[in-house]
Amino acid sequence: MNMEYCEGKSHLTMNLNEILARKELRLYFQPMLNLNSGKINEVEALFHWEHPEKGVISSFELFALAEETGAIIQIGEWLMRKACEQNKLWQKMGLPSFPIAVCLSACQLTQPNFVERVQRILEETQLSPEYLELEITESIMMDAHIVLPILRELKRIGVQISLDDFGMGYCSLYYLKEFPIDKIKISRSFVCNCTTDKKDATLIKAIIAMAHQLSLEVAAKGIESKDQLLFLQQHLCNIGEGAFFSDPLLPNEFYESFYNIERIIREEGISPVLCRQKQLEEELENARQELRDTVSLQQGMIFKFVKENGKFIHTLCYGELFYRIGIIPEKLIGKELFDFFPKDVAEKKLQYYERAWAGEENVKYEGFQNGIWYLTSLRPVKQGEKIIEVICSSIDITERKKMEETLREREQKYRLIAENMQDLIAVVNTNGIILYASPSYETVLGFPPNVYEGNAPTLLVHPDDVSKIHSQYEHMALTKSPGYVEFRYQHAQNGWVYVESLGTPVLNGHGEVEHFVVVARDISKRKKVEELMRKSEKLSVVGQLAAGVAHEIRNPLTSIKGFVQLLRQEVNHSFYMDIIISEINRLESIVGEFLTLAKNQPPKRERLDLRILLQQVVSLFDTKSLYKNVEIIQEYDEGLPFIYCDGNQMKQVFMNIIKNAIEAMPNGGIIEIQISCHNFHSVRLTFIDQGVGISAERIKHIGEPYFSTKEKGTGLGLMISHKIVQEHGGTIHIESQVNKGTKVEVMLPIKQPSPVENSI
Ligand code: ADP
Ligand code: MG
Repeated sequence: MNMEYCEGKSHLTMNLNEILARKELRLYFQPMLNLNSGKINEVEALFHWEHPEKGVISSFELFALAEETGAIIQIGEWLMRKACEQNKLWQKMGLPSFPIAVCLSACQLTQPNFVERVQRILEETQLSPEYLELEITESIMMDAHIVLPILRELKRIGVQISLDDFGMGYCSLYYLKEFPIDKIKISRSFVCNCTTDKKDATLIKAIIAMAHQLSLEVAAKGIESKDQLLFLQQHLCNIGEGAFFSDPLLPNEFYESFYNIERIIREEGISPVLCRQKQLEEELENARQELRDTVSLQQGMIFKFVKENGKFIHTLCYGELFYRIGIIPEKLIGKELFDFFPKDVAEKKLQYYERAWAGEENVKYEGFQNGIWYLTSLRPVKQGEKIIEVICSSIDITERKKMEETLREREQKYRLIAENMQDLIAVVNTNGIILYASPSYETVLGFPPNVYEGNAPTLLVHPDDVSKIHSQYEHMALTKSPGYVEFRYQHAQNGWVYVESLGTPVLNGHGEVEHFVVVARDISKRKKVEELMRKSEKLSVVGQLAAGVAHEIRNPLTSIKGFVQLLRQEVNHSFYMDIIISEINRLESIVGEFLTLAKNQPPKRERLDLRILLQQVVSLFDTKSLYKNVEIIQEYDEGLPFIYCDGNQMKQVFMNIIKNAIEAMPNGGIIEIQISCHNFHSVRLTFIDQGVGISAERIKHIGEPYFSTKEKGTGLGLMISHKIVQEHGGTIHIESQVNKGTKVEVMLPIKQPSPVENSI
């Protein structure tokens, strides 16, 4: 193999085999010491070429040359093998074990099967892989994508890797983090000036600190003086080599001076104890810094205070939250609350400070500052029985506060709805207990909600309906679907209230029933309508029958009347005959009235005499056998005008009013009916009874449908009457005194109302 050695203009060709044969290549060993213990940490393998003409050529120069020509692969392998052999030999000779370091060039590393070659050398020399250290240089890292997998592979087989000549090449700090490196070796060019050049000193300190932070060991090369050694020791450099300890040695020299070298640091350097102390100090400082970083990076804030001369003085403040609430933590130190908070805020916080200082554990307060809500917990720190400081930590609770606010708003809204509606709303838990009953319970049923809350939904329910409710809940729990039921609730004063209730099961995230929401509604009125409809249907059938019967009666009546008239002329008992005829007339008019009322005619307007209409109605009631002890007195003004009206409808009005009057006097009495001219425009009809009367409270509701005090009443009578009179352009007015009597006044216009008024 030929190599060209370029030095100046002269060329030098070399043949490795020849060189080796001539034994011109010499191996030397440079011990590297642990700067703490002074022990030999490792040994670097170097070689010299003792050129017959050029003299000694260093391994550094030779390496550069060999790299250019490619001979490096062979030389490199030779070196590695020799180093391993030597190291194994020393081990066999009884020296303590240490790794031997060999430098590698990039072309060596990237040649195929490099890792296998290394492995083979290790196997052949029987050296354990941890005792081989491969030195790479920063330039290798430029081909990171190729080199990195190989280095990882080397690490995997257990070889150590170091980065040599650190600071001289182009090393991206990124690689320092990514590469599987065990130690870095600081270039001798920094070390040689470290005690004289401040910048070099700074660089070395920085490199050591950085390497330690990255958990790498640091070695310094080229230590030549005691000052340098002390400097490096003080700054906790781990390993060192150089002329101050030893020059490169031949194997036997190394073996012989081994223990002498290990004595140097013990004698010349800082004692291991001091070194250890230095190291601990550094570790402590690192730990402190880490804590500071963590605390100030944490999202919350942490601070402490002590009591001095009756004032709470802050002694420590960290945390991002300080900045967010608009306080620079450093500015708080040495200050009390009143120095940076408005008086009212400071006074409030002071109370909590006092409590914590009094020894109360777990004092907490919420603060609001700069748009941020925070929760601070205070913890007193004791020394013996005395409280020496209080540590406070705060977290940001703005999000939580916002959520609470929205929830509260929402709840308020629902509450507003719930509290202002007539529907009965209840929340029932799965144990069948009412958790909530809406205020409408009181308005609808007369009992306040708290009567129901805490009880079963069957409380105050009609005994006959209890089982219905039980099955409603069973159904809801089983099918997880809504259940409907109608039942009766006890009213505080008035018997039973019919309600319909719709219950809905509310499910949780797991699909289990969490509670039931039940909405119930008073349906008494609806129930009554239903009843009335049934009743009125019956009535209308009865009414139709009555009309039919009346019709049937009229025909025979007519013939009877004719024959009686005939008889009167022949028979002598004309007096009796007159009586018979007058009775028949009465019968005829009653039956006729029935027929007209039963007829469902369309409304029509006619000029009619009110007196006649009224008389016809009264004649219906004039049956003493039906209404005992009721007497109807009629008083009509002279010269009453005719009015335009629907005769049938008017009669209905009069009938309703008279019927009410009769019903108001169960023990009999007098009903006075008057018709008078009110003025030129209207006629007034008054119906006065001496009945039970109507209370002022009730009178307001008269004319509302279904308002009735009677067991079989409908409350429709006056409503219909109002409607009819209104359509005629008139009014109905009721005055009444309880237990004295009632006066119903109907005003009707004389003139026909205009079509507009007439239409509803
Ligand atoms: P109903 O007669 O079916 O009850 P109404 O509309 O005719 O229905 O009457 C409504 C209510 O007004 C009655 O139930 C009664 O309480 C009251 N009322 C009407 N007229 C009188 C009266 N003359 N005296 C006492 N109460 C009356
Ligand atoms: Mg009535």
